[in-house]
Amino acid sequence: MKIIMLGAPGAGKGTQAKMLADRYGIPHISTGDIFRANIKNNTELGQKAKGFMDKGLLVPDELVVDLVIDRIKNADCMRGFIFDGFPRTVPQAEALTYALNNQNEKIDYAIEVEVPDENIIERMGGRRACVGCGATYHVVFNAPKVEGICDHCGEKLILRDDDKPETVKDRLKVYHDQTQPLIDFYAEKGAHVRIDGTQDIMKVFEDITKILD
Ligand code: ADP
Ligand code: AMP
Repeated sequence: MKIIMLGAPGAGKGTQAKMLADRYGIPHISTGDIFRANIKNNTELGQKAKGFMDKGLLVPDELVVDLVIDRIKNADCMRGFIFDGFPRTVPQAEALTYALNNQNEKIDYAIEVEVPDENIIERMGGRRACVGCGATYHVVFNAPKVEGICDHCGEKLILRDDDKPETVKDRLKVYHDQTQPLIDFYAEKGAHVRIDGTQDIMKVFEDITKILD
């Protein structure tokens, strides 16, 4: 099963993608997590990506596409994968379609988690990310057992720089301008499904798994 999670930053793509990956035994591939890991390890890719990410801008397509196309050649993607945060532009989606076509494959579902912009600012202000394993929490809606500490690996939780309200507004604009057109792109391919992302986390999950099961 090859799945793309679509939706604004903070819509809950990562939260759902992690649970779906566990349920269906396929990898969760988050390009944002890949870039953050590269920044943490101070790689050349991380150094190139950081400036764009800090400003709430997209990293240029050429730094993203090859990396993802290589990633899905790994053996763990044989049974499928869940993309979270990729593709984010029409050229990225076209490159992905081309690469999958070459192997007679296609995206089965592009799941749009729909949340209005008004709710997003609240979600992002309360999001906390683990500096160790990248797990995400929300101070109200999905709190860790011990405040400020990751349930999974015990590392510290932080507010991401790009989750500050000024940057979130820029990221929402980038989403509407550059990523939202992918909804039509996948609707034309018959792969688009829309889920109400304003419901609580488990209800969103239930709605998605009803379709995928
Ligand atoms: P995305 O991957 O789309 O950027 P996340 O999955 O990281 O979004 O979710 C953004 C924030 O909102 C996180 O703090 C997360 O815990 C919280 N969240 C996710 N889904 C819901 C939901 N259905 N209701 C309330 N809060 C949610
Ligand atoms: P995310 O963790 O998905 O919210 O992504 C955080 C940031 O990483 C984004 O604001 C972009 O700067 C960058 N990024 C992640 N995925 C992509 C992508 N597919 N294309 C371009 N930039 C990306």
